[in-house]
Amino acid sequence: MGHIVVEAAEALLDKEIPVLDHGFVRLVDYLGGDARIVQSARVSYGAGTKTFRQDRGLIHYLLKNAHTSPFEQVQLTFHTKMPIFVARQWVRHRTARLNEISGRYSVMKDEFYLPLPEHVSYQSESNKQGRAGALPPDEAEAVIQTLKAEQVAAYASYEKMIEQGVARELARTNLPISLYTEWYWQIDLHNLFHFLRLRLDGHAQYEIRVYAEAMAQCAKAVAPIAFEAFEEHLVGSVDFSRSECAALAARLRGEPIQLEGKALERFEAKLAHMLAANAPDDAPEEPQLPV
Ligand SMILES: Cc1cc2nc3c(=O)[nH]c(=O)nc-3n(C[C@H](O)[C@H](O)[C@H](O)COP(=O)(O)OP(=O)(O)OC[C@H]3O[C@@H](n4cnc5c(N)ncnc54)[C@H](O)[C@@H]3O)c2cc1C
Repeated sequence: MGHIVVEAAEALLDKEIPVLDHGFVRLVDYLGGDARIVQSARVSYGAGTKTFRQDRGLIHYLLKNAHTSPFEQVQLTFHTKMPIFVARQWVRHRTARLNEISGRYSVMKDEFYLPLPEHVSYQSESNKQGRAGALPPDEAEAVIQTLKAEQVAAYASYEKMIEQGVARELARTNLPISLYTEWYWQIDLHNLFHFLRLRLDGHAQYEIRVYAEAMAQCAKAVAPIAFEAFEEHLVGSVDFSRSECAALAARLRGEPIQLEGKALERFEAKLAHMLAANAPDDAPEEPQLPV
């Protein structure tokens, strides 16, 4: 089997999926798909593609059992545009190749991220890296105007220095991290799943999560069965530590559990998350396990 063409991925190629106020995710190219995963997994046996059912079963088996290398045979190249503070989180994922616009070479565009009023939230008390509850609309609007005024002032100074002939690499240094940047980013499907698992999660910052959602849409188009397996075995699963397993067993036996403090809070949060994710449509909002 030569070059693999996936119709759903072809339909997405070169289309900008808008993200935030000025950003986007664009699938530039892809290599392989579900068929390549199956083909490369079966090469060790010398057996070719079997029925759809067997191929689907194989992909689920591989993902469930962390036989990750066949997923590395599938590659995706994205062109994305995002605020610099999002790029800083994104770049921590080292298993990709990237080329970013150079602020030394190019004059940066006057494009800054401004949150929507409903995303202007208070600092969470319980999660030092999180938000909790939106500000009242008039206060949110005032915050947005403050952010905007500082962006306008910073860009005006930048433009002035550029006109004056100051080196672009210096003139840019006071531009805020809400400024948009762009890059080409290429990653294999195994490592994209790792990225998505971390950045689709509710603990990830909203502004990177929306990019993860757009890239998940592309991954699903390129390799729908692998994506289904990813959702089944990774996104939809919950990890329990050894002591949490002991606590779960005790809870199911109706015995008191040994966890306390933060450990107990984390355990209860996992159970609540699991119950909420699997609640029947007519269930009460926050179902509890029998204690
Ligand atoms: C919600 C959230 C909050 C975070 N908060 C912070 C924070 O406060 N401060 C902070 O600094 N970071 C923070 N991070 C970043 C985090 O620590 C990781 O750097 C980031 O998620 C990338 O994960 P990774 O290293 O597994 O991914 P990748 O770099 O894509 O690596 C994938 C896997 O490859 C292997 N690998 C890759 N490169 C190497 C290497 N050189 N040596 C050995 N193994 C390697 C590792 O097994 C790794 O898990 C946060 C991430 C998330 C999702």
